[in-house]
Amino acid sequence: MSTKPTANGREIPWLDAWVRPVVRLHPSPGTATETDSHLGGPMLWPRDEPWPHCDGARHHGILDVTTEMVRGLHTPFAGCVQLYKRDFPELPFPDGTDLLQVFLCPILHEDHWGPDVRLVWRKADQVTEPLTDRPVPALVDPTFAFQPCVFTPCRADEYPMVYEVPRDLVRELEIDPDSWPSLEDASKIGGWTRWYAGEPYEMECPECGTTRVQLLALAADETECDECDQPEGYHVVGWEFYGGSGGLNVLVCPKDVHHTLKLVVQ
Ligand SMILES: [Zn+2]
Ligand SMILES: [Zn+2]
Repeated sequence: MSTKPTANGREIPWLDAWVRPVVRLHPSPGTATETDSHLGGPMLWPRDEPWPHCDGARHHGILDVTTEMVRGLHTPFAGCVQLYKRDFPELPFPDGTDLLQVFLCPILHEDHWGPDVRLVWRKADQVTEPLTDRPVPALVDPTFAFQPCVFTPCRADEYPMVYEVPRDLVRELEIDPDSWPSLEDASKIGGWTRWYAGEPYEMECPECGTTRVQLLALAADETECDECDQPEGYHVVGWEFYGGSGGLNVLVCPKDVHHTLKLVVQ
């Protein structure tokens, strides 16, 4: 359970409507197979299906990789995360699917200023002839490099950051926004977005106007979990998002997970 916000110590009557379940993934170094849930391990991919590629149109340089080196670089995505329905039934699997695959283009992209993300929802047992020679990105920015990890998940409830709550609700109870608890750093499924550097923006799905919600967070840093006491992990995955303390948030449309994703790096 993340810290429960109060109105100067008093209970907030409408708070229950703002609780969301969260699955903290607790990544730790380890190896997994293509038939496991994991981060950075092998992806279950059919031999006859094209591997996702990035056209490089939004690539931007960082540190010693210049924009000229990467702009327009056509490169395979990196297989990053696999989440099987048997392990994570909380995910919004479309009918007939039981595996979520998360691919990353590990180069800085303009607009959201982070790696690009491609989600693939598939039915695992339809992959009868798996690819064994999996493509790897032509270039990996060290900031977005990751090492193979396994998950030891735990379940909890999570409250939003104060920026998500309509201001009149906050004002009505004379809540001091500075007293509202922050969200912990955690790689997770569901829950709320850890807005660090600003308020929610452009949350509406461009296809249908529905407010997009947090699907997944991949954090550079893991705070010690008050639910299961798993130790904090600084750079356990290897990421340096946002100076080493941020994360990559993937938001999806709750009406249709195939609508345009929202990516927030902070
Ligand atoms: Zn890219
Ligand atoms: Zn939509």
